[in-house]
Amino acid sequence: MDVKSIFLKPGKERSVERFHPWIFSGALMKGSEDLENGDLVKVKSADGKFLCIGHYQDLGSIAVRIISFKEVEINQEFWNEKFENALQVREHLNLIHAYNNVFRLIHGEGDGLPGLIVDVYSDTAVVQCHSVGMLKSMEFIKNGIQHAFDNELRAIYNKSSDTISREFEAKDEYVFKMGEPDKIVLEYGHKFSVDWETGQKTGYFIDQRENRKLIAKYASRKKVLNTFCYSGGFSIFALEAGAKLVHSLDSSQKAIDLVENNIRLNGFSNSDKHKSIVADAMDYMKNLEEEYDIIILDPPAFAKHKKSRHKAVQGYKRLNYNAIKQIKSGGIIFTFSCSQVVDKQLFANTVIAAGIESGRSIRILEQLHQPGDHPINAYHPEGEYLKGLVIQVD
Ligand code: SAH
Repeated sequence: MDVKSIFLKPGKERSVERFHPWIFSGALMKGSEDLENGDLVKVKSADGKFLCIGHYQDLGSIAVRIISFKEVEINQEFWNEKFENALQVREHLNLIHAYNNVFRLIHGEGDGLPGLIVDVYSDTAVVQCHSVGMLKSMEFIKNGIQHAFDNELRAIYNKSSDTISREFEAKDEYVFKMGEPDKIVLEYGHKFSVDWETGQKTGYFIDQRENRKLIAKYASRKKVLNTFCYSGGFSIFALEAGAKLVHSLDSSQKAIDLVENNIRLNGFSNSDKHKSIVADAMDYMKNLEEEYDIIILDPPAFAKHKKSRHKAVQGYKRLNYNAIKQIKSGGIIFTFSCSQVVDKQLFANTVIAAGIESGRSIRILEQLHQPGDHPINAYHPEGEYLKGLVIQVD
């Protein structure tokens, strides 16, 4: 394959030498004008030394997403190795067995493939491209996934229309399908119906799997409020663990329909222990109708950019304040932030500030984070995004 070369300004090779997977547009020397979005490029230093290979695009501040620091051919073998290696890591994490068939196979930079997400739901892989280069590599990606799974998957679905600029006409479609894929998946033995075609993100929030499992440790005989519940994962784990009562709250009726379906799938539909609530959590939390033992706060990212960080922090503080203020004495709060620009220290400080304002004493029992199938590339600390605390309120 013909790979074009581009050159960095003198000194700009340093971040590549530290294996950071992005090159910003300001680091490029003039001469990239004949490149197209999604082109594979060889990046060289100002004096012509090979540095890396990546996907080029001129749509934002990141000009190149690096997929190899070695001068290799980017052929099917290259891709096969990436997927095999990623699957092996998930096997080591013991995520693929009779009780669990939901996991993230490719987590962008964390798996050496910036711009690519692949989530596996039973016998379907859902691919989400965040760069044009990945979209253009779909054939390699499809074959690489098939190869890693020994052709045992039933479907591969490309869901990139939300994540790729419209001009590239990314369609949501099956790039491979053989029969009807299984839309009921198992997460640590609990059943969840996942619809990648109509659901948020790739259909399910896999990143909270270990934290959902953790709730079981706390939930027996407790009254639980699960806010921002989406498909009700925390609720199902709490009910299975013997919670006295679980209220699941989301502002989206579609999410609540998913919850109801999952409640039914796990055999709780005839129980009066569960109630769904469609409401705005920020409003609802101002004045709770019930004294809960456990409250889960798992909002969507309040800040997507540094510009909105301050406002996001105020939002987290208000939300946590309302939970801390109203929870039963001795109660437990699972509180999360998935805003990448709010780091774990800032998040902890925000929760602590909310505690001080509430006048109640709080203890941090556990510090939570994203699971191993959402790995953080050690040379790309920006990949750390999910953080959480389990706090106890006296
Ligand atoms: N805890 C979930 C994932 C949460 S995703 C899980 O374990 O799967 C965030 C959810 O917050 C989405 O379902 C979204 O519909 C919901 N949401 C966004 N804004 C909201 C608001 N203001 N009030 C209530 N829910 C909201």
